[in-house]
Amino acid sequence: MRVHLKTLGCRLNEAEIETWANDFSARGHTLVNEEESPDILVLNTCAVTQGAVRKSRQLVRKTHKKNPKAKLVVSGCYATLNEQETVSLDGVDLLINNQQKEKLVELTLDNLSEETMPSMATEPNEVALFSRGRQRAFIKVQDGCRYRCSFCIVTIARGDEKSRAIDEIIVEINTIHQHGISEIVITGVHLGGYGSDIDSDLFTLVQSIVEETTIPRIRMGSLEPWDLPDGFLELFKNPRLMPHMHLPMQSGSDTVLKRMSRRCKTDEFRALVAEARRLIPTINITSDIIVGFPGETDEEWQQTLNFVEEMQFGDLHIFTYSTREGTKAASMPNQVRNVIKKQRSKALHLLAESIKVSRMNALLGSTLDILWEDGQQKNDDGSTTVLGYTPNYLRVKTTTKEPEKLSNHVLSCELSSIENNVFNGRLV
Ligand code: SF4
Repeated sequence: MRVHLKTLGCRLNEAEIETWANDFSARGHTLVNEEESPDILVLNTCAVTQGAVRKSRQLVRKTHKKNPKAKLVVSGCYATLNEQETVSLDGVDLLINNQQKEKLVELTLDNLSEETMPSMATEPNEVALFSRGRQRAFIKVQDGCRYRCSFCIVTIARGDEKSRAIDEIIVEINTIHQHGISEIVITGVHLGGYGSDIDSDLFTLVQSIVEETTIPRIRMGSLEPWDLPDGFLELFKNPRLMPHMHLPMQSGSDTVLKRMSRRCKTDEFRALVAEARRLIPTINITSDIIVGFPGETDEEWQQTLNFVEEMQFGDLHIFTYSTREGTKAASMPNQVRNVIKKQRSKALHLLAESIKVSRMNALLGSTLDILWEDGQQKNDDGSTTVLGYTPNYLRVKTTTKEPEKLSNHVLSCELSSIENNVFNGRLV
């Protein structure tokens, strides 16, 4: 879905919408401007003065008037202190009070989402996969895709595969490194197909990046679980290539995969994951699943649940199938009813969450190198909370009195506890 967030008031409100924005993105939704017809609008209101109360009320009214079709979610101090008045304002679909704020994204999606499959199913978008920041840059190395997955509009929208020349990519990486960026994410619509049009391949590209740049961290964006060149996994033995692969599987049922026209069956995926984990024990494998693809039976759905459990993904992006005009799947019979999609999505979210938590628990006590970010939060005791990512892309936070020593640096940290799916770390 297309989401726009607005806030009035204090820095805390601003920080909250930043967190929600990241959370919406991480779940595959697109952040848009108000002019770009958002499906969901989130307003974080304020009540510090009577003026702020008045402005909050006006903001709700104006926003609804300007975006009558968007679903409106209202949170913050004005909404919390004036619940009855807020829900009676025209256009308010959901009120989330300050006590529920931490779960705003989850509650919004539970209550208001009908369709959640992104328009470009395989571009679940590196922005959604990886957060942006001063320390991280996305390097797009190819566009287009030669396949015709039946739910995907990409091939129709983007055309054939087109790769950028290696030299040009290297120059770009060296330039951004000189500008202080420490981590790149290599992205493409069908990244595994890199080089198909220029007599090259992804192995050659990554090897050239490793040899001809000194950027400390290199990440792979979303990779379809096929077309990976020979020796590709071996590249991860280089510590500069971060041990995380996002391999969108889309279903754990071979019959559904066939209807999706996917090029990877469950056995091939199993073998790929097993080999990756054998060669790179710390690798984090994440994936995407589409829930409620046309004709998905109870049995096929159970196969997907079993497969997800077996694969033990470190994280899962779950998309509810939605019809895209112009795709083959749009005209397939036996479209799954929304109520069933919702039930399946909920069950899969629960399973994915429990696997994620158990995999995170297994890492407690380990010491890992974290690239610390500059989006910091000041605490009442004068310390600052700083966030970063482990090499295998797990979120970590720590508190420090000297945040400048962390920002955009790689420093080791012991993972000491877990809070809301984020590790608390102790600098070592
Ligand atoms: S591989 Fe399939 S899902 Fe991925 S971009 Fe190509 S057609 Fe779309």
